[in-house]
Amino acid sequence: MPVTFPLARRGLLFVLSSPSGAGKSTIARKLLAADDGLEMSVSATTRPIRPGEVDGVDYHFVDLERFREMVSNGDFLEWAHVFDHRYGTPHKPVDDILSDGRDVLFDIDWQGAQQLYQQAGGDVVRVFVLPPSMDELHRRLIVRATDAPEVIDARMARAASEIGHWDGYDYVLVNDDVERCFIEVKTILAAERLKRSRQTTLIGFIRSMTRPS
Ligand code: 5GP
Repeated sequence: MPVTFPLARRGLLFVLSSPSGAGKSTIARKLLAADDGLEMSVSATTRPIRPGEVDGVDYHFVDLERFREMVSNGDFLEWAHVFDHRYGTPHKPVDDILSDGRDVLFDIDWQGAQQLYQQAGGDVVRVFVLPPSMDELHRRLIVRATDAPEVIDARMARAASEIGHWDGYDYVLVNDDVERCFIEVKTILAAERLKRSRQTTLIGFIRSMTRPS
């Protein structure tokens, strides 16, 4: 009888962080479109909705009172203050995706990455995407035209501080070519999925096959 190796593994929490404007959302979109085994975690936020955004798809847009209620109900896996607003990851959808045997993609900042890592350790993979330069980041924020000039200045200041936390990540990439950067992120995900330590069922199976009789 042929021996079939069972390839079931624990789900991954795949974090993509970058300063706003570094191209992370484009990479996340391409990754989700290319991979059925990956689903996005939709955060809740108190920040106002931007033109083109859809409630429940880009974020769950909530007021401060509702956000506080969610915090006190223990609804968040992690949450943080970012740019004078609050952002949090509801844990229920994450649990559902993982128990469905799929991986979860997070677009969260360094504070969120740190909190997730404290909770889920080795199941978390943290990827930081850098813009090619600070000048290019500034140019992209202006071209995007979704923020007022003072908001862009605040985002630039925050980008510098965010980049200072690059050492809290497992991988650091420079997005000077979105297609190449996407392929790199896809490759990281593929390699992480194959790590021996994640192949829990396979490890047990091989141990039972190789146990001395
Ligand atoms: P934006 O307002 O541009 O959509 O997002 C601002 C920043 O908040 C980004 O760096 C984004 O990654 C981060 N962010 C979005 N959702 C969450 C979340 O649920 N938790 C944390 N910690 N950061 C988040």
